Amino acid sequence: MKIIVSIKQVPDTSGKVAVNPDGTLNRASMQTITNPDDMNALEAALKMKDATGCKVIVVTMGPPPAAGMLREALAMGADEAILVSAREFGGSDTYATSQILAAAINKVGVEADDVVMCGRQAIDGDTAQVGPQIAEKLHLPQITYAADITKEGNTVTVKRMLEDGYMTIKTQTPCLITCIKELNEPRYMSVSGVFEAYGKPLTTYDYEALKDDPLIDATTIGLKGSPTNIFKSFTPPQKGAGMMLEGADKATCEKLAGILAAKHII
Ligand SMILES: Cc1cc2nc3c(=O)[nH]c(=O)nc-3n(C[C@H](O)[C@H](O)[C@H](O)COP(=O)(O)OP(=O)(O)OC[C@H]3O[C@@H](n4cnc5c(N)ncnc54)[C@H](O)[C@@H]3O)c2cc1C
Repeated sequence: MKIIVSIKQVPDTSGKVAVNPDGTLNRASMQTITNPDDMNALEAALKMKDATGCKVIVVTMGPPPAAGMLREALAMGADEAILVSAREFGGSDTYATSQILAAAINKVGVEADDVVMCGRQAIDGDTAQVGPQIAEKLHLPQITYAADITKEGNTVTVKRMLEDGYMTIKTQTPCLITCIKELNEPRYMSVSGVFEAYGKPLTTYDYEALKDDPLIDATTIGLKGSPTNIFKSFTPPQKGAGMMLEGADKATCEKLAGILAAKHII
């Protein structure tokens, strides 16, 4: 049994967010972190490893510096890491990203009792599309918004968070689960884990490594294979300070009505 966890390196938006004049993120000037929901997915996988001794493999698609994030995952306790990186993959939208990640997961191999885990949503792209798209492309059943996961044999039971409650779903492995922060508290790297991380395998899958997978096609990967295009990206103008009217007397109400009427709101 193995758990494959798909993790993404994202800009740390808790610090200063720098924006280029054209409205795109100035990623080079920002610190990076592992996407928060992906840390919960990794922690869930490591808990299963603690309980069963299964193997945990982390995979990311990104530029070569994303290897640093993978080493951190290895230091937390993952057994193997895969960096999916090639010029041909650059500029991919969610459709193309999930094609490439699904091909990488195919290369690792998904067996009968395996689980693929993702975060629910990345804090930069913010679409929550990649996990479900990978599941579709690998023909796996999927459960999203996991707030609790138990696995007994080939049956996985997941408590899904809804807006106003929970739903419990069972499925058979292999399956894909997307995880949310309510699932657990991610562990820290240990000192021994950091040393061990450098002895663990970190493999790079480039275009050559994946090109024979039917999912990898010039028309389905990279900028050219991305069906969505960003037409415009901008920082919204700051809102004004607003206006406060104190009191509930007739004069204040008439003043408020006058302001709303002048703006054609009433
Ligand atoms: C036309 C276009 C061009 C783009 N070009 C670029 C570009 O050049 N560079 C760039 O950085 N972004 C680019 N993007 C954004 C990029 O497509 C998305 O960041 C990416 O597809 C993931 O989508 P998301 O961030 O919304 O992830 P979500 O769908 O919100 O992520 C959900 C989960 O999927 C998994 N996941 C998502 N992405 C990855 C990943 N890369 N590796 C491993 N797991 C992952 C994680 O588990 C994550 O929690 C582009 C987007 C478009 C539309």
